[in-house]
Amino acid sequence: MGELKRIVCRSCGSEWECRTGCGLVHGKLEWIADLYGEDIRKEIKSCLKEGELIPFTFAYQLSCCKKCGRIESVPVLCLEEDGREYIGVCRQCGQKPELVEEIEKTPCPICHSPVLETEEIGHWD
Ligand SMILES: [Zn+2]
Ligand SMILES: [Zn+2]
Repeated sequence: MGELKRIVCRSCGSEWECRTGCGLVHGKLEWIADLYGEDIRKEIKSCLKEGELIPFTFAYQLSCCKKCGRIESVPVLCLEEDGREYIGVCRQCGQKPELVEEIEKTPCPICHSPVLETEEIGHWD
């Protein structure tokens, strides 16, 4: 079960709602592949061999798109065998956003003050 979070900037009052973690539907690589664009989807699916289990970790993580000034969650998939990582793109502009490691140290994409706060507002699955 994932968490639904609200990110609030204490300086300019901007707000974003993001889901983090992963849901029940993310237990299968086939389904995760569908969250990505055509190229990555093909690549992930080409790793799938019938009857074989591929170890992976998956979660939605917070990211920040510098281009359109948005904080949103993107799918992050890591194939454990070779450490390959697939990070989703910004839904608005298609650029690769930067993953947010620590929200307290991340500048607000609108006013650039590092005063973002997170609040847990619910769960999703
Ligand atoms: Zn701000
Ligand atoms: Zn963007």
